[in-house]
Order: sequence, then C-alpha cells, then structure tokens
Amino acid sequence: MVRALYPGTFDPIHNGHIDIAARAARLFDELVIGIYDSSPKSLTFDTQTRLALARESLSHIPNVRVEPYQGLTVTYAKDIGATVMVRGLRAISDFEFEFQMALTNKKLAPEVEFISLMTSLKYAYLSSSILKEVAMLGGDVDSLAPAPVIAALRARFAGLGPDGAGSVPIRTSRD
Ligand code: ADP
Repeated sequence: MVRALYPGTFDPIHNGHIDIAARAARLFDELVIGIYDSSPKSLTFDTQTRLALARESLSHIPNVRVEPYQGLTVTYAKDIGATVMVRGLRAISDFEFEFQMALTNKKLAPEVEFISLMTSLKYAYLSSSILKEVAMLGGDVDSLAPAPVIAALRARFAGLGPDGAGSVPIRTSRD
C-alpha cells in the first residue's frame, strides 16, 4: 500500500489543485491532501474553511482524504506513513522553488520520494492568488474552482469594493 501526501496552503483549493489530486490519486493507493495550518493573518481563509472547501471539492475521489497539519511537512509525511510527496509544477518559475524544497526535504527525510506532476495546460496560469484577485474584482471565476469555493470567495469579498486587497490578504508567499 503506497500512501502519498500532497501538501500545500490551498487558500483556497482550485481546479488546478483538483486536477493534480485526481491524477495523483490514480497513481497511489491513498492520497492525503495536507492543508498547512498556518497563521490566518497572512491567508484569506482560516484552516477550518480551507479544510472544509478541500473536503467538499474532493469528495468524489474515494482514495483521497484531506487533513490539516502543522510544522515540518516531512515530519507530517513520516507521521502518517506517506512514502511519497506530490507537488504540482506550473511553470519554470515553480521549478526553482520546488527543486529547492524537494532537495531540502530529501536531506531531512531520505526515505520519502518527491514527485512533481506537470500542470494540465488548461490550468497552467491558475493560482489561488489569481483566483482571489479576479473574484475580488468581480470577474467570472466559475470555470476556475468548484461552486462551494466560489460561494466562499463571494462571501469573503462581499462589500469590500475594489480596494479590498488591503483588508483581506490575497497573496500567498509564492503566487
Ligand atoms: P504552497 O503554498 O505550498 O505552494 P499552494 O496551495 O499554492 O501551496 O499549492 C500547492 C501545490 O499545488 C504546489 O505544488 C503548487 O505548485 C501546485 N499548484 C498550484 N496551482 C497549480 C496549477 N494550476 N496546476 C498545477 N499545480 C498547481
């Protein structure tokens, strides 16, 4: 039985993440989506909301479960018995970061393998930050994320106006 971990911030989950999760779920017996439980101050959605949205969005894939975690990702991987860590790659700009993280994690946990799945072309431009920016400015995001995520974005940005970015953080570290 091979268990894999797909870790990330997922603030919030979108169709690019779901595509990677669906493809990874076909490769491994079980896929755990690890939602990094970081400070809500720097994120748009708190951990419980990110978790609930991911669970709802991935409920159609039977061998996927969604869990929160804190601390080092490799420690969490070892704790849950994951022998593989999955990440997605969108562009050359992702590569440098993912390469550095994979080598660091490999140093910390030589027993865990790191694989990157290439984005599907139709999601190559998509990030949580772009999704939030378009949603905040009232653009059509229906094809970018599942309905519960879109509803949550609408509720989060309701009444903020075009300068809402100042009151709700929408950029994650890399996106
Ligand atoms: P993190 O903050 O850990 O980068 P994210 O939620 O932004 O968390 O992303 C989690 C993973 O999903 C990362 O490996 C990222 O490269 C990947 N990812 C994000 N958007 C896409 C996309 N459109 N296509 C493929 N992979 C993606």
